[in-house]
Amino acid sequence: MGENSEVSFEDTSVAFSYKSDAALKKANSIFSIVNHPWVSSIAIASVKLALALRLPVEGIIKRTAFDHFCGGVSIDGCDDEIAILSKHGVGTILDYSVEGEDSDADFDETMRETIRTIEKAEQNRAAIPFSVFKPSGVASSELLAKVHRGDALTPEEQASFERVRERVDTICGRASVAGIPVLIDAEHSWTQDPVDALAHQMMQKYNRERAIVFNTYQLYRTASLTNLKRALGGAKERRFRLGAKLVRGAYMEKERARAASMGYPDPIQPDKEACDRAFDEGLAFCIDDIDHLDLVCGSHNERSNLYLASLMKKRGLSNDDARVWFAQLYGMSDNISFNLAKAGYRVAKYLPYGPVRSVMPYLFRRAEENTSVAGQSSRELVLIRKELERRKQQGQKPQGSDNAASRSRA
Ligand SMILES: Cc1cc2nc3c(=O)[nH]c(=O)nc-3n(C[C@H](O)[C@H](O)[C@H](O)COP(=O)(O)OP(=O)(O)OC[C@H]3O[C@@H](n4cnc5c(N)ncnc54)[C@H](O)[C@@H]3O)c2cc1C
Repeated sequence: MGENSEVSFEDTSVAFSYKSDAALKKANSIFSIVNHPWVSSIAIASVKLALALRLPVEGIIKRTAFDHFCGGVSIDGCDDEIAILSKHGVGTILDYSVEGEDSDADFDETMRETIRTIEKAEQNRAAIPFSVFKPSGVASSELLAKVHRGDALTPEEQASFERVRERVDTICGRASVAGIPVLIDAEHSWTQDPVDALAHQMMQKYNRERAIVFNTYQLYRTASLTNLKRALGGAKERRFRLGAKLVRGAYMEKERARAASMGYPDPIQPDKEACDRAFDEGLAFCIDDIDHLDLVCGSHNERSNLYLASLMKKRGLSNDDARVWFAQLYGMSDNISFNLAKAGYRVAKYLPYGPVRSVMPYLFRRAEENTSVAGQSSRELVLIRKELERRKQQGQKPQGSDNAASRSRA
């Protein structure tokens, strides 16, 4: 597997050029805490307890983990981050990260908020190239699971599912008018079939000229490569452009535990190597057929990102080919995002935002993801320490060191 010699992820000075020394030291403290498995689990349990007891911990969360991983509590609170990323050639994907909603009023509000992110993007297309939403933000997970199982719906449930379809259509329709593509995130395998079906209906409706609606394919699922190939076949047959976001998948433990407890076959690849192979195969499949689809590769895996760059080169695509996007999460893998952008690739980062308390499930996932595995420091911590050491050696100030002040306002 070839690597693209034009891009390297080693340069931490490029990766962290937008972070002041103070912001980098703060990041070092946060990642050092979550790095230790037992410290991390005690910290997570304490924060959960404090929030349940309504203790005043939001301020400290806001100044630490929230500031590192999120843009702000509202869309306009993200302005500084959007500007900083844009200055470095990296786009922002405003991600309203409120979780745990369960009423029609909540779902309608998430739909309206997603539309506000599209309107924000309309005013600043170069800096905000995509919008995004999670299916569970606009639909009850229980209802999706029922539709997925093929259970008969009561008339109320049918009406409720029709409202879900209308919300998704309203978002995609607005995205189409604005010309701002919308990514539909993927969540659990047991709710995914109706999401796939809705996404494909929306693509058929709105992706006639260009890819406006993107569905997500989680390659850790054994079924996903086949689903992706089938989706492209359907798109060709019905003459629309497929929008495909490829990720490995974020809910492995939950998926395996549910399959084991309910006694059905594990839907996840047997091991990491099999998952990596499927992801590579998905990327190669998309680049091979790039004339019929647009691709967003959502990954923090350096090798996968290099592999995609090498596939583009082999296929004769320019680095800035408008059909291929690399995407990471804000506060993670800046070495990948900023070095790819510097090499001319199209790169965007999800920037989560929302009230501190509502964003907590997202922050807990980030903490768990950055906990040390097999005694090794997390990838982020290694990079942050490398850059701190480099700055110490060189006694050098970063460009854009005004960021400390701007972050504390966000
Ligand atoms: C921009 C962006 C958007 C995203 N959107 C979504 C989304 O819509 N839905 C979603 O589910 N996730 C989403 N994710 C998260 C993503 O699925 C991964 O969880 C995360 O990015 C880690 O995978 P990786 O490719 O970065 O690399 P790596 O760190 O190399 O891979 C870790 C991943 O490999 C898989 N894995 C690990 N161990 C095993 C094993 N033993 N067997 C099988 N598989 C294994 C898991 O998927 C795990 O998350 C998104 C990520 C990004 C950056």
